[in-house]
Amino acid sequence: MNKKTVRDIDLKGKRVLVRVDFNVPLKDGKVGDDTRIRAALPTIQYLISNGAAVILCSHLGRPKGGPDPAFSMKPVADHLARLVTVPVHFSSEFVGTEAQAASSRLGQGEILLLENTRFHPGETRNDPELSKQLATMADVFVNDAFGSAHRAHASTEGVAHHLPAVAGFLLEKEIKYLGQAIADPARPFVAILGGAKISDKIGVIRNLLTKADHVLIGGGMANTFFKAKGLEVADSLVEDEALDTAKELLGSPKLHLPADLVLANAFDNAAESQTVDAGNVPTGWRILDIGPKTVQAFAGLLKGAGTVVWNGPMGVFEFPNFSKGTFGVAQAVAGSGAVSIIGGGDSVAAINQSGLSGKVTHISTGGGASLEMLEGLALPGVAALMDR
Ligand code: ADP
Ligand code: MG
Repeated sequence: MNKKTVRDIDLKGKRVLVRVDFNVPLKDGKVGDDTRIRAALPTIQYLISNGAAVILCSHLGRPKGGPDPAFSMKPVADHLARLVTVPVHFSSEFVGTEAQAASSRLGQGEILLLENTRFHPGETRNDPELSKQLATMADVFVNDAFGSAHRAHASTEGVAHHLPAVAGFLLEKEIKYLGQAIADPARPFVAILGGAKISDKIGVIRNLLTKADHVLIGGGMANTFFKAKGLEVADSLVEDEALDTAKELLGSPKLHLPADLVLANAFDNAAESQTVDAGNVPTGWRILDIGPKTVQAFAGLLKGAGTVVWNGPMGVFEFPNFSKGTFGVAQAVAGSGAVSIIGGGDSVAAINQSGLSGKVTHISTGGGASLEMLEGLALPGVAALMDR
């Protein structure tokens, strides 16, 4: 990676501001799932054992540009205090006199969690005044929030211009795997794209068609390709406004569409189902999954791959009767022996449900950010960090 990390900077006696992703689900005023908090601990512990005072900040939910107790970080501070052995302080402001005072008081080896970054309207506007004010509280900035790195906000991008700025371990790992897959993949490089809509991922398909050896298409997005080819899709989800783009992308010999499909006569797990070859979708039916021949064909291309990137389920895997395609492909990815990278909220949920998450190389924590990397775009929160 060409960016500096926490390993490349002197931390002793420094106040270190860390942008983390503590955007956790809250339940009855408590942290519902602490996966993201635990994921940040290696960076936090590294900073502490190297003599830093640690100031943490994150957004939580979508407060409407002002303080809202429903999105307070206080429950996160309480939870964090139980996971670490050092003192955890909380500032009920993100920036301001209280936050400033708390950060100056902060001792080496202690943690201060600031209130929700989005309680300040300047955060999402990337207000330079806010970035400067934030920077005055610290000597060093660490970005460890990959899921927010595609957004140029004051706490992700702006502040990095006012302090020596480096990556934390989580961010480093994401950039290492996703960046390597795009820049210098072990070949053959096979990309699997699915999910509901083609329009969310046109940039990704385009870029991967230039980088990968094969691009396998499944899920709802395949339907628009079928229609663009003049094949019948009946009641399937289709995006007519993407038909021209689909037609253009169909020209690539790297693009592989499903050969067979599992249909339903309603959008319901309990609907009647049948498996047909592509093009043979009868009136009143809709495509909800890829069929067994397709799983086999995709598995054939995945076998012996050097790199696999997967974003987007192959069907409506939330319905057990239409999940076989997604889980079949998960099996093939896990057994491929390739460096395998899974991104996207629903795809990650699917790999976790399949019980195969331990058999893939990297599961990305950032849906939008991972898509932007696969699209070949620079993430503002990463670009602003110091070069190695
Ligand atoms: P990710 O979060 O992994 O990026 P998306 O959000 O793009 O994935 O798409 C996931 C959604 O796509 C799932 O909710 C799934 O039910 C839906 N989906 C997949 N295939 C189809 C299909 N054939 N018809 C309708 N919806 C589909
Ligand atoms: Mg999704």
